[in-house]
Amino acid sequence: MLVDQEEISANAYNPRLNEEKVNVIRGAILDSAGDSLAYTEVLDDGSQQRIYPYGEVFAHVTGYVGRGMAGLELAANDTLLKAPDFLDTLQSWANEEAVQGSNIRTTLNSSLQQFVYERFSGYKGAVVITEPSTGKVRVLMSSPSYDPADVIDNWDNIAANEDSPLYARATQGLYPPGSTFKLITALAMMRAMPDYENYTYVCDGSYEVGNNSISCAGGAVHGYMTLEDAFAYSCNGYFASAAVQMGGDALRETAEYLNISESFDFILPQSESSVVVSSEYEADSMVAQTGIGQGETQMTPFYLNMLTCSIANGGVLYTPYLIDQTIDASGAVEKTLPKLWGTMMSAAEATYLENLMTGVVQYGTASSLYHEGVSIYGKTGTAQIDGGEDHSWFTGYTKVNGQVDLAITVLVENGGSEKRAAPIVQQIIDYYYS
Ligand SMILES: [Zn+2]
Repeated sequence: MLVDQEEISANAYNPRLNEEKVNVIRGAILDSAGDSLAYTEVLDDGSQQRIYPYGEVFAHVTGYVGRGMAGLELAANDTLLKAPDFLDTLQSWANEEAVQGSNIRTTLNSSLQQFVYERFSGYKGAVVITEPSTGKVRVLMSSPSYDPADVIDNWDNIAANEDSPLYARATQGLYPPGSTFKLITALAMMRAMPDYENYTYVCDGSYEVGNNSISCAGGAVHGYMTLEDAFAYSCNGYFASAAVQMGGDALRETAEYLNISESFDFILPQSESSVVVSSEYEADSMVAQTGIGQGETQMTPFYLNMLTCSIANGGVLYTPYLIDQTIDASGAVEKTLPKLWGTMMSAAEATYLENLMTGVVQYGTASSLYHEGVSIYGKTGTAQIDGGEDHSWFTGYTKVNGQVDLAITVLVENGGSEKRAAPIVQQIIDYYYS
């Protein structure tokens, strides 16, 4: 049936025209307490305006709608536009009323995310805070950011900003992991070196390999090092020498076993983390660099948080999720239940890594961390960047009354000695547990 297109549009009885008049009011995106992160206001002329009450704070999670879509606006678009019931919808359309789409209640803690975002004022970086026992994502922060409400009018400026505010560093930023990679090197030792618990090394401040010299941070000379002490003090020589003894395959295989290139069924797009010790670089110096998180290995803050969750959880990882409930206009609730993603390592391996992470906080590189009533486990990292200030990392988790509570991963991009990850973790813990 060929009919002139204009004639169809002009016909007042065409249901498609009605659909344009009485369309769906986009549902809201809420935090875990029910506060709006994004909602729609219907203006007097019937047009809709999307409001983002937190401005820049949640831009990389909610995303935007209006100039294409991104974030949850894109990933959950069908849900946000989903009317309660087909008959209700028809009824509304018959009355030329707008149909209300479904709301999404997320797992996010908006006050904590706001607090975290403010800590990064003037700095680039990312923070991921999750609940290892369920997979709930409580904070997913990337800095700098942009106001999703500005996307339509101010796109050119946002896109041209050399600090790349559109870039979701938490999930898409790839960074050298620095010494946080020693979690993987230590696990590789447990797997590849039968006598790993007795592997010792005498640190004189630098480790010579090939034409390279690997120094310990801040000119430290650590002396006699056991695995526990080397991990706590983050001795580069110890882990570089252990990596060379194991070989690149052991590091690569362990990282692959730890699902380094996985996206864990998460709803938002991620970059793929990877360990590169390709055969053409099997030279010892490359293996040594890889063992301390330099070389060509790259990780997202999100992946490192997932690895941390699995350690906190005795090796088991829950699927990370952001949408806790969808609530349609009739009030019907669909709730997400925690879902096992898989096992990253054995319970014994997780316990051993936890012991190593205990030392870091009790007497090692993160010994400044303390909060009454909260047990803290972690690993710090400093990643050297050619031609720039160092990146600073922390990844770890908390327990309260013996129960695992939060996994916290912080990355400060090019913070150098001025802005470090561990003090931000202290602020987060003080804020959250006070
Ligand atoms: Zn050392």
